[in-house]
Amino acid sequence: MATAVLEPKAEVKQFLGGPAKKLLIGGKWVASASGQTFEVLNPADGSVLAQVARGNEQDVNLAVAAARKSFDDGKYRRMSVHERSKLMYRLADAIEAHAEEFAQLESLDNGKPVGVARAADVPLTIEHFRYYAGWADKIDGDVISVAPPYDPGRFLNYTLREPVGVVAQIIPWNFPLLMAAWKLGAALACGCSIVLKPAEQTPLSALLLGQLVCEVGFPDGVLNIVTGFGDAGAALANHRDVDKVAFTGSTEVGKKIVQASAGNLKRVTLELGGKSPNIIFADADLEVAAGAAASAIFFNHGQCCCAGSRLFVEAPVYDEIVGRVAEIAKGIKLGPGMAPDTQMGPLVSSEQLDRVTGFIKSGLEEGAEAICGGGRPGGDLDKGYFVQPTVFRKVRSDMTMIQEEIFGPVVAAFPFKDMADVAAQANATQYGLAAGIFTRDIMKAHRMAEAVRAGTVWVNCYNMFDAASPFGGYKQSGYGREMGKHALENYTQTKSVWVRTE
Ligand code: NAP
Ligand code: MG
Repeated sequence: MATAVLEPKAEVKQFLGGPAKKLLIGGKWVASASGQTFEVLNPADGSVLAQVARGNEQDVNLAVAAARKSFDDGKYRRMSVHERSKLMYRLADAIEAHAEEFAQLESLDNGKPVGVARAADVPLTIEHFRYYAGWADKIDGDVISVAPPYDPGRFLNYTLREPVGVVAQIIPWNFPLLMAAWKLGAALACGCSIVLKPAEQTPLSALLLGQLVCEVGFPDGVLNIVTGFGDAGAALANHRDVDKVAFTGSTEVGKKIVQASAGNLKRVTLELGGKSPNIIFADADLEVAAGAAASAIFFNHGQCCCAGSRLFVEAPVYDEIVGRVAEIAKGIKLGPGMAPDTQMGPLVSSEQLDRVTGFIKSGLEEGAEAICGGGRPGGDLDKGYFVQPTVFRKVRSDMTMIQEEIFGPVVAAFPFKDMADVAAQANATQYGLAAGIFTRDIMKAHRMAEAVRAGTVWVNCYNMFDAASPFGGYKQSGYGREMGKHALENYTQTKSVWVRTE
């Protein structure tokens, strides 16, 4: 069963080989202040890919100071907006020129199939930087008509949209490169200086991105990268000289960041977990709906904040849809991300493996029935962190695995009666990130899109993304929006300027 695995490109081997990867601080690659490093593992077999500097609070202090210096000297903040735009286009071109290296690194580090990284993660990243390169010279204020009643003079009032300052960006491991791009694109377009903290599991593509940022000519200190663990993230969230934190990750850590932000009232945006409902009505194209329901949960091995982890199917077609999704699940080929025929790779880490199999076990103990999957695949694959795609029925909303985000390839299927019933069930969660609706009835589709409390709704599709379209949560899925013109709000503040003209 051993599948042929793609040999990494020479450039990838070179990137991985050699001494431990360093931190990027003030335009220089430096070892961590403590000299400590940590191992980055290949989740397909647990082997060591690289050693990476373990940054801690001391390194965070240096990185924040470098970002502050760069912001205050104004080389980037006050750069011609057209030049800023050009730099961002150059970065996008450089990523494109290294697209295959990024795809392979992402596959090795995260576990995702290299074909998926080539088709989704990398091109979306390139598009994202191009989209925000286009914004860099269009972040305009307004001219406002004003006439204070207590002064007969005339005034010109206008607004400036100024960069918010030093920004900390803390990102997760599920789309390491793309999550870095989602955060960096808008911040760079607005003229901020940044400290990026990649997830400990997947720091590699961010470090390659950092090299390109330096090569294409961004001024020193505009992007600083501190690899490390949660303590480095916490030091950023606590830091008095950080003006804003943008975080993607768990709701639990998101709450800690909000608490830490109180020290200097730094701005916070949060993109947190989800338990997204995917709703299929009996009048839908059942083949399309079943295929989409499978990819809604199995794409990226279920490690998507917007994964369609709760599947709601109108009663008359419940058995048919659940059967079809289970058939698709059984046909998914598991394997290392670097094997060309792999459709689903390993989970990112042994912790995630334990977490996901723990939820599966709790579901079984609480009486749910797994009609496919239900554990690890066995055999050689058990050297890595693989879990079988799993479809549960006989589920109840009070089960632990229904209340909590699993973040793995595990879907629970509920039957429903009508629109009111499914709207109530869909909204019975602390989360509100995304939802899917499948129906051929246009009025039903729009009414449901309104009824679901979620930041993104997909009708007759799932997992559609574009740099231009906003993404973010309702309820405990977080606040603030990434992407589109909306994300520019996160990285600018508005100054109102009054000028007496008469
Ligand atoms: P996590 O702990 O929320 O990690 C996300 C990021 O926050 C990482 O860079 C992490 O650093 C950092 N971090 C950890 N503790 C911190 C703190 N106290 N202050 C500031 N930053 C901190 O997520 P996880 O542990 O990797 O995964 C746990 C669960 O979170 C998953 O099972 C899933 O349910 C959810 N999750 C959601 C998303 C999403 O896209 N919404 C993404 C990832 C995970 P380290 O990596 O060094 O710990
Ligand atoms: Mg963690």
